[in-house]
Amino acid sequence: MADKFTSVHLNTIGQLHENGYALRLDCKSCGRGADVDLDSLVRRLGPDFTLPEFRRHASCPHCGGAVSLTMRLAAAGTKPEGHPMAIRVKPRR
Ligand SMILES: [Zn+2]
Repeated sequence: MADKFTSVHLNTIGQLHENGYALRLDCKSCGRGADVDLDSLVRRLGPDFTLPEFRRHASCPHCGGAVSLTMRLAAAGTKPEGHPMAIRVKPRR
């Protein structure tokens, strides 16, 4: 049973999406936070965009501060309070 969890590798936003995870971002500077829209994120950045890379590029749309990422199974509970957060991701050059 434990294998079920350890065998799931979550390295990319596509894998998060496939496995039914939700991704929440919280801004350390202004305290805002909410779920991101994984659907549109995968469409925009591609499913192979890695989480470490996402963490480096994501910033708060309100104050531009650094954000922290939290993953959880979307099916495990209702969405926490907060408006969907449109995260600014700096494009790669
Ligand atoms: Zn902020």
